[in-house]
Amino acid sequence: MAALQPVRGTHDLLPDAARAHRAVEARAFEVASRFGFGEIMTPIFEFTEVFKRTLGDTSDIVTKEMYTFEDRGGESLTLRPEGTAAIVRAFISGGLAQQVPVKAFYRGPMFRYERPQKGRQRQFHQVGIEILGVEGPAADIEVIACGAHILEALGLGGTVTVELNTLGDVESRAAYRETLVAYLQGRKGELSEDSLTRLEKNPLRILDSKDEGDRAVVAEAPILADSLNDASRDFFARVQEGLAALNVPIEISPRLVRGLDYYTHTAFEFTTTKLGAQGTVLAGGRYDGLVKQMGGPPTPGVGWAAGVERLAMLLADPPPAPRPLAVIPAGAEADTLALTVTDRLRRAGYAVDLGYSGNMGKRMKRANKIAARAAVILGPDEIAAGAATVRDLDSGDQEAVPFDALEGALDRFR
Ligand code: ATP
Ligand code: MG
Repeated sequence: MAALQPVRGTHDLLPDAARAHRAVEARAFEVASRFGFGEIMTPIFEFTEVFKRTLGDTSDIVTKEMYTFEDRGGESLTLRPEGTAAIVRAFISGGLAQQVPVKAFYRGPMFRYERPQKGRQRQFHQVGIEILGVEGPAADIEVIACGAHILEALGLGGTVTVELNTLGDVESRAAYRETLVAYLQGRKGELSEDSLTRLEKNPLRILDSKDEGDRAVVAEAPILADSLNDASRDFFARVQEGLAALNVPIEISPRLVRGLDYYTHTAFEFTTTKLGAQGTVLAGGRYDGLVKQMGGPPTPGVGWAAGVERLAMLLADPPPAPRPLAVIPAGAEADTLALTVTDRLRRAGYAVDLGYSGNMGKRMKRANKIAARAAVILGPDEIAAGAATVRDLDSGDQEAVPFDALEGALDRFR
């Protein structure tokens, strides 16, 4: 154990980074609220089965990435690698099926044992939304539009593309599966070992492989669009029409599939050219079979998750640190006055920094260092006059303000 180091792939968020991170979450939630989503908070660990059963035995997450452990009671638990399975578990165990449609927003840490690199961590954070209980394409349109609004609100409009595909309904997927397997059998020799396993269990997953040899094979594979039945084709057309009406620019990406087993119909990824290989910032799709597969009443679903770290890196206008007032007492007799003035100003809603020690010069230095907006100076002269010297630290202008008028007089420095 390397003591006193963060675990590989985990990061502390120091104040500047934490502020950007919280801003991403807050803006995402604000926009999602406008779309009618309400927050659901689930535990960060679940019974291992919750993820194992839903994500599928051949998914990267289940085969390589889960943090699974036995607790002291002998239960197998897993730190959540993603949010959808947990939300669906809550939907079922909380009896929310009576209240569909359910529109859930979630945020928080996710855990995956991956090879850490830029934009890829072992503890990372997501925000996500899910709509449960809506069969038609209106829900697909709404979740994608909500994602687009959020990225706009983060100042990323124009830098992202929405790649869109359809996996079709169960019948279309089955038809495609046959076509795909026939093709892949012919090029078996070029596939990675992982993909040979997938060929048996879940050949569609091969389309999502990151192995270069696999990718070359996939590039020439027959596409899903050619296996779609009329119903699936129509569903996809209606999703595209809705997005066109909302001016959400899309790019049809015939080979886009999502890495998890439970998707049907719509699949999409929002990508940016700004993050190199880790360019996907938001990804999701429709998962009509999932609730039933987890033991709930058959309920369609559609949603997405976005990586908060990746979005925070791209944030066009990271929020600046708030600029406090600095209360600066000079001389021992001013200390108690400084305490009470500070307290009153804080109660009036100001952010106030009270230096803990040092002479006036040292405290002024600190005020500048924390980018205080103004200094409220309390020295012997001020005490004698019953008025503080208030110095605007941007302009250098100063004025005398009676102690009992401070709350109102400092309004412009908020
Ligand atoms: P990838 O293909 O990059 O591995 P994924 O399919 O595993 O992505 P999802 O499960 O769809 O990703 O997660 C949605 C989003 O969460 C991603 O688009 C990304 O922004 C973010 N994300 C996923 N894994 C990580 C990670 N290990 N570190 C940081 N962000 C991540
Ligand atoms: Mg992954």
